[in-house]
Amino acid sequence: MRDDLALTELASASDVGRVRSDNQDLDLVAPPLIAVADGMGGHKGGATAARMAVDALREVGTTTDPAALLGALKQANTAIAAAAVADPDLEGMGTTTTAGFVDAGVLYLVHVGDSRAYLVRDGRMVQVTDDHSIVAEMVRRGALSEADAEHHPARHVITRALGVDIDVEVDALRVDLEPGDVVLLCTDGLSGPVDDDEILAAIDGAGTLNDAAATLIALANDAGGPDNVTVVLARVDAVTREAAAAG
Ligand code: MG
Repeated sequence: MRDDLALTELASASDVGRVRSDNQDLDLVAPPLIAVADGMGGHKGGATAARMAVDALREVGTTTDPAALLGALKQANTAIAAAAVADPDLEGMGTTTTAGFVDAGVLYLVHVGDSRAYLVRDGRMVQVTDDHSIVAEMVRRGALSEADAEHHPARHVITRALGVDIDVEVDALRVDLEPGDVVLLCTDGLSGPVDDDEILAAIDGAGTLNDAAATLIALANDAGGPDNVTVVLARVDAVTREAAAAG
């Protein structure tokens, strides 16, 4: 545990892409909280589900309690499912959510769906979350190669989302951080069309995380922009104990 580590730089960007008519992704940057959500289900439903997930996360505020983060997603699940039953326009809506905060040098994450969290450290990037998708589950079982998964016709079909069922299984993870680490949260509009190598190069090659976020959106759109694309970037560095206590 590193008490002197804190979020020192934050950036986010979201774009409709080149194919869709509306953006049903959302990002949340409310330090120490960060999140992305990718809504689905109908014209109105997807945006509503993503909005409800982000609103539930906002309620967590600045409390750094992993249980509160988990509770927010469970509560969002219940609220979205109830709203979907109550309003025919919202039937079938749901949303992915990947959310987290940094406290005392530890990244706490909660995650449902195929949005992703990556950790960039020392010129390498690792995916921290497991995709809850048919294709990713086949890869984990050894039934499909990663290369074949990239072009599989069912690659966008997710197996878990907030709001589609009365109960939802939420992954909760913790990652010990080092000075200089960058955390990337993104929707599948980035990780689908853009290779990990390109994502890493964009982050490591950028002067600021704002520049990196803009480059990532451009990469997704250059690759055809097949989906809404949303990114949140957060850098962690050592700060003085006084600043950490104040921050
Ligand atoms: Mg998407």
